[in-house]
Amino acid sequence: MKRCPVCRARVKDNSICRRCGSDLIDLLVLENQAEYMLVRAVQCLQKGDITLSLRYSDHANTLQRTEFGELFSAFLRSPLSR
Ligand SMILES: [Zn+2]
Repeated sequence: MKRCPVCRARVKDNSICRRCGSDLIDLLVLENQAEYMLVRAVQCLQKGDITLSLRYSDHANTLQRTEFGELFSAFLRSPLSR
């Protein structure tokens, strides 16, 4: 997370926004879980398990939409991944 979703202040390593005081820990946990799911998705693709890779990638996208996650899921659904 680069910016506080409440006040748009830059977020660094703090779980509390320095400007507005919002507690961002739950959002940071979701962001970390999404990143973990995408790593698992890539690992599954490396092992040739496209079905499980897509499951992890879609799960990551439900937690946090990123351009990479969207493109990765689209790739896994395309004939290029088969
Ligand atoms: Zn804030």
